[in-house]
Amino acid sequence: MADSTINIQEEEEEIARRKLNDLIAECPQLHKDEELIRKAFELANEAHRGMRRKSGELYIFHPIAVARIVAVEIGLGVKSVAAALLHDVVEDTDINLTDLESLFGPKVATIVDGLTKLEGVFDQNASLQAENFRKLLVSMIEDVRVILIKLADRLHNMRTLDSMPEHKRYRIAAETLYIYAPIAHRLGLFAVKTELEDLSLKYEHPQIYRMLEEKLKMNEADYQNVIDSIAVPIKERLDALGLKYTIKARPKSIYSIWHKMQKKNVPFEEIYDILAMRIIFEPLDNGMAEKTQCWGIYSILTDLYRPNPDRLRDWVSTPKANGYEALHTTIMSPSGRWVEVQIRSKRMDEVAERGYAAHWKYKEEGDDVAESNDIDNWIANIRQMLENVDSNSLEFLDAFKLNLFASEIMIFTPKGEVKVMPVGSTALDFAFEIHSKLGYHCIGAKINYKLEPISRELKSGDQVEIITSEKQQPKYEWLDFVTTAKAKTKIREIFREERKEAVAKGEKMISEQLQEKKLAINARIIKKMLHSYHVSTKDELFYQVGKGSISLDNLDKVLTQKSSNKWIKMWKLSFGNNKENEEDDDEDESSVSNPSPMPKSKNVVLSDELTQSYTIAPCCNPIPGDDVVAYVDESGAMYLHARRCPQAMKLMSSMGNRIVAAQWESHKVLSYLTIIEITGLDRQGVVSEITKVISFEQNVKMRSVHFEAHDGVFIGNIYLYIYNTDDLQTLINKILKVKGVDTVKRKEKSEQ
Ligand code: MN
Repeated sequence: MADSTINIQEEEEEIARRKLNDLIAECPQLHKDEELIRKAFELANEAHRGMRRKSGELYIFHPIAVARIVAVEIGLGVKSVAAALLHDVVEDTDINLTDLESLFGPKVATIVDGLTKLEGVFDQNASLQAENFRKLLVSMIEDVRVILIKLADRLHNMRTLDSMPEHKRYRIAAETLYIYAPIAHRLGLFAVKTELEDLSLKYEHPQIYRMLEEKLKMNEADYQNVIDSIAVPIKERLDALGLKYTIKARPKSIYSIWHKMQKKNVPFEEIYDILAMRIIFEPLDNGMAEKTQCWGIYSILTDLYRPNPDRLRDWVSTPKANGYEALHTTIMSPSGRWVEVQIRSKRMDEVAERGYAAHWKYKEEGDDVAESNDIDNWIANIRQMLENVDSNSLEFLDAFKLNLFASEIMIFTPKGEVKVMPVGSTALDFAFEIHSKLGYHCIGAKINYKLEPISRELKSGDQVEIITSEKQQPKYEWLDFVTTAKAKTKIREIFREERKEAVAKGEKMISEQLQEKKLAINARIIKKMLHSYHVSTKDELFYQVGKGSISLDNLDKVLTQKSSNKWIKMWKLSFGNNKENEEDDDEDESSVSNPSPMPKSKNVVLSDELTQSYTIAPCCNPIPGDDVVAYVDESGAMYLHARRCPQAMKLMSSMGNRIVAAQWESHKVLSYLTIIEITGLDRQGVVSEITKVISFEQNVKMRSVHFEAHDGVFIGNIYLYIYNTDDLQTLINKILKVKGVDTVKRKEKSEQ
């Protein structure tokens, strides 16, 4: 018996070794030092011997798979592949870093060290997680390969997520979407980013994923026809030039389609640019720059097809900050479909697929990247942020995330220099981007020669001249409108000291007031105060008191107040928390021992009886029937978010332990506020007809109506009280039948 087990294991190890050989054979960049890679494999194999993954396969297959992603999909070299093979060795065995250093040299050892420190980085505890995220960035600054290999590790774990228990899948998927995919994007690893997003969606919303997958499959033949019909004339023209090229075409990724559906609030059928086509060419050796040749191909395309003038994106004149270069346009096919076409040289394509790694590829020998590019600037930027970070790492995470997600605009200095900035940047952000001194003393800006306030949001192509005055001092309110991490960090830095003083002052004021009543600051009192003054943390409470925006005049009332968290009781009722003594008079005491009540059950049913107990999140405004999750905050209040709400996604990945699944029961008692937007042709009587349709609907009440008409087209916003999504759909269908009405959509956010 024992013998046969060993035999099976030996056989599997042989398979693993063969996989490694295949990998080396496939990647010329690994031929430089095959020995090092084999040595790394043997050590890893030894270290993990006998271990199996949850899927049942031998553990060593995981590091090999990660090494393959690192070498083939990201294109890294020998040292990275060795480090990938060793990435779990220190964590799982008693081999230490000194051993690794003597065996593989200092570089491989440092990378493995960085990876080991990242193990278990994302913990349940939110602030710890943010802190760990900082560690992740620090290690990235030391050597970008750490984060590249970590991405490969995550990608393989996502590919094999099936073998994880369901409750873990959810969190891993949310975390991947929240942190790893944006980093992959920022590093320009397009293929990795796309796959991470698709896999996250697959596990987070299996039904949606399957639905979209099916729709794409159903339309496959149609797509192929469109592409073929477009491609034939293009090929003729390119061949005539003697150009070497490939044309690739495929639908957009499932995630990006879904993302667009969410953003525009439209069904699959209304996403008009599902098809994307890529022309990758080898530049002709005719003295013409790559860029010029891209425009040459563009010109051929527009000879043949009508381009959409709003959809031209020129990333060849100014590459994106992540290094991406290409020329994008959207053309109309003869059958009336919009198709996005990306024009890239072979080199540009390489950079686009592998991002920063493509720059790395030929440079690994020296271990230094000599030339400075935008990514280097970005990393330098992170380094600066890390140096200035204060105790609030969650805030930092937010600021950082902001810059990961943002798309970019190009702003010109008076001298015509280009700065790439995130969308939403203001004149003040731009001032800080150039120099913090300019930021601190900024009083205004000339945008395209016109004087504008510092809070003015910039548009791509704006030329901006910053106006300063020595008398100007930084203002705390600036934080309300600046959007870049750099500006935020710099402004906070100035006010951190001031804030500290206010916090200390506030704490002193509270404890003095309490002393008069022979009381001291304790968890129970703080909890009451947080609740009554509507602030979320102790620190914030002290600060607000210290700076005078919370007055302690009614402190007596606050202290004598009974907890108004009615829902906690309800909660206990519906979830059978058995501690009887937690009722009534003892409730306050029990809250102390359990300052942040969490439901025992991980699932809450939102019946009409429970409506007192939750708050509808204003950011996404869900109504019964929507896919929702519930977030329970520190004071025990429960907030309902639409599952697709970005805020909810953030909470799911950072505060996963405070999230409970929520389901609606059929609702016919209470109605919820929702907004619909209607557009159409403005003809006489159309508004009154629409309102008539609505008022005939029994289950709907109108709160307000607002219509506007321009150039024969109207747009209307109607605020309604409605029971659930079914009633809403019925109503929408009825309004759509009104003559002249073009679209009826539910709006996510109220503009109040
Ligand atoms: Mn791993």
